[in-house]
Amino acid sequence: MNEKKRPVLAINGGERSIPEGFIKNWPPIDPVDEEYVLASLRGENHTFGPNCTAFEKEFAAWNGNQYAITTNSGTAALHMAVYSCDCGSGDEVIVPAYSWSSSATCILHHNAIPVFVDIDYATMNLDPDKIEAAITEKTKAIIVVHLHGLMADMEKITRLARKYGLKVIEDACQGHGARFQEKKSGHWGDCATFSFNQNKCLCSGEGGMFVTDNREMWEKARTLWSFGETRSPVESRDYHAYALGWMYRNNDLTAAFGRAQLTKLDRYLAVQAENAAVLLEELKGQPGLILPFVPEGHQPNWYNFTLRIDPEAFGCPSPTFRFRDAVLKAVRAEGVPTGIWQSYILPRMTVFQSRNGYGQGCPWICPNARNVIYNPEAYPAAQKHCETHFGLTTPLRAPNGTGVARKVAAAIRKVLENAGELNLEPEPKK
Ligand SMILES: *Cc1c(COP(=O)(O)O)cnc(C)c1O
Repeated sequence: MNEKKRPVLAINGGERSIPEGFIKNWPPIDPVDEEYVLASLRGENHTFGPNCTAFEKEFAAWNGNQYAITTNSGTAALHMAVYSCDCGSGDEVIVPAYSWSSSATCILHHNAIPVFVDIDYATMNLDPDKIEAAITEKTKAIIVVHLHGLMADMEKITRLARKYGLKVIEDACQGHGARFQEKKSGHWGDCATFSFNQNKCLCSGEGGMFVTDNREMWEKARTLWSFGETRSPVESRDYHAYALGWMYRNNDLTAAFGRAQLTKLDRYLAVQAENAAVLLEELKGQPGLILPFVPEGHQPNWYNFTLRIDPEAFGCPSPTFRFRDAVLKAVRAEGVPTGIWQSYILPRMTVFQSRNGYGQGCPWICPNARNVIYNPEAYPAAQKHCETHFGLTTPLRAPNGTGVARKVAAAIRKVLENAGELNLEPEPKK
């Protein structure tokens, strides 16, 4: 009888599924980008210039917000958001236990204290049913993160916020154009932040945007953004610091790049959605693989197509991340750019474990602060996610199309169907 030969995994010397150079880098650069950037370069203004004000207007119009401030990073915009919500010394801000570090460290920058809430394993977003238990008389705001481009359950979260009089900040740094109940990110909370880092769905190299529909919050954010001044750089400034400020402004070249990319954003997001649909279809029913879950009413932007390995399905020895790591290495060897987005939950990070943001225990030992401590064992869903996931970004982004998505799915299936051939790293000695 002719037995079908098993393919040899690339990591074990077999042929790789996807040849070098087949998957293209993000973002594609075309004459539109060149035109915008060269015009800025040939202009007279290289600090906060006409492209910056135009970028603010155009992004606000694209997202449907009244006010926008362009910044040099998403992190700067987050700090402005915390300040614009009046969070200060001793105040507590609720934030998911799993996110980018600056979703939580932005709170420290204004002397306020992060209080972590576990995520819901299925959606990877803040678990709305666990928020209420974390609210104290010190709580001022909730930062929700639309992780990997899937919006958090903003209906439940905003209802809770209203009940307790809390502000809501949307960390939409990964959430450009994501929708919940047909409403875009940046419209559910009191303010929102976007990032334009190269990795994000809108790339200007680095950069960010603060948006709000609240005039007072816009003015507060703007004060922090530019040296504590109350006038913007395009108005007549008196260079007087009225409050504590930073230098979070964007520059003209970066804004020009961002404007050029914005003209193509809707098209790029459509490509991502198409590629994600192909991946979902091609990976459906693959044993041991947990596909991204999209609850009713959500339209993700597919910033990151995140897969989780169900270690039990493979009879995998503990700790689970050893098996995931072996799968990840093998998928990479097949030619798929993939990675672990974050391997630490936030409360486990040194900055929180040492509770030493400003040195000498500040802000946690401020006289008006509550003694908040961080027990990393208290966030089992976030921890499980850390140990089981790997994600795809570049293969979903334009100019890569469904042909790439199909090849990526085939490479992942090849590895999982031959998981018996994987070599697990020896368990580290205790
Ligand atoms: C990227 C990111 C940020 C920070 O954005 P930068 O522009 O890199 O400062 C914050 N939060 C989340 C969820 C992010 O993905």
